[in-house]
Amino acid sequence: MRVPFVSFIPMETELDSDLRSAFERVYTASWYIEGKEDASFEKAFAQYCGTKYCIGCGNGLDALMLILKALDIGAGDEVIVPSNTYIATALAVTYVGATPVFAEPDIRTFNIDPSKIEEKITPKTKAIMPVHLYGQPCDMDPIMDIARSHGLYIVEDCAQAHGATYKGQKVGSFGIAAGFSFYPGKNLGALGDAGAAVTSDKKLADRIRAMGNYGSDYKYHHIYKGNNSRLDEFQAAFLSAKLPHLDRMNEERRRIASLYTAGIRNPLVELPYVMDGVVPVWHIFGIRCSKRDALEKYLTDNGVTVNKHYPIPMHMQECYRDLEIPEGALPIAEEISRTELSLPMYYGMTDAQIKYVIDQINSFKG
Ligand SMILES: *Cc1c(COP(=O)(O)O)cnc(C)c1O
Repeated sequence: MRVPFVSFIPMETELDSDLRSAFERVYTASWYIEGKEDASFEKAFAQYCGTKYCIGCGNGLDALMLILKALDIGAGDEVIVPSNTYIATALAVTYVGATPVFAEPDIRTFNIDPSKIEEKITPKTKAIMPVHLYGQPCDMDPIMDIARSHGLYIVEDCAQAHGATYKGQKVGSFGIAAGFSFYPGKNLGALGDAGAAVTSDKKLADRIRAMGNYGSDYKYHHIYKGNNSRLDEFQAAFLSAKLPHLDRMNEERRRIASLYTAGIRNPLVELPYVMDGVVPVWHIFGIRCSKRDALEKYLTDNGVTVNKHYPIPMHMQECYRDLEIPEGALPIAEEISRTELSLPMYYGMTDAQIKYVIDQINSFKG
């Protein structure tokens, strides 16, 4: 049997007529940027997140970058980001001219460890960017307390966590603002690149929107040196067609995760840990294994496509050599990069496929 890491086919088959009519609607209207579709998706997504405003952007990296820019974070400032994340989190900080400062994650949750944040705060620190990695919400109560007591902004990176909740509250509604990605493989994915920022602060919302629209508050009037990063009408229409199905599709991911958790019994494998009080959305189902590379080869040889999130930690990437953080300096992120393996996880996986993945992992002898 072959099990792909991800497939859009089951979802796209189910939503086929909705997606085609979304395309028809935009093409017939012949209006492609800053139109009705963008406005109506923004309204629906803000409501979904429990925030007042949503600003569509070109992608998730831009959403994060525009938020930081709108908060006036730039040269000379520091932003605390987890040492285990996708590189976009750190790049958003770099792009505005600030410096990313890496704080270690909790080895069980893979998310930023609240007890490791305060030691990274300096007089230059302006914000903390918790990343709800793999669709698991961060432990927000202690993070909010730290931000409050040090007067720091919280900017959430929700690129992997659309719809996840912490103590009943949606991620994206905790900080001053949050960035989402609608990259096709994300839990809510467009049919191309797309992203959004959400916030409940009106002034900040206006600034983010202007920042992503050439720094313009009205046509041909530029108050900031902005970027061009907007959500186009096609992507907004596709996202509007998919949003009503997001909770149901996340629920299906939770069902797959619970089958994995119940079925995988291999002493070499450590299953993901879920904190009390959170509802994860399983963007990624990440296990850990001391013989990770052998397990990867075994699964691949047996038709199961797996992935690593992420094989090289950010501080060891060539592009961040200038930060001069030596290997060994962030041991938990490095340990995760050596041991994490992501299993197939997508809406529409069949029970036979799930059982096959479980059986293959259980028969791995190391
Ligand atoms: C995908 C992702 C991003 C960036 O989103 P793009 O739409 O690809 O720019 C940012 N942060 C995390 C954690 C991501 O997984």
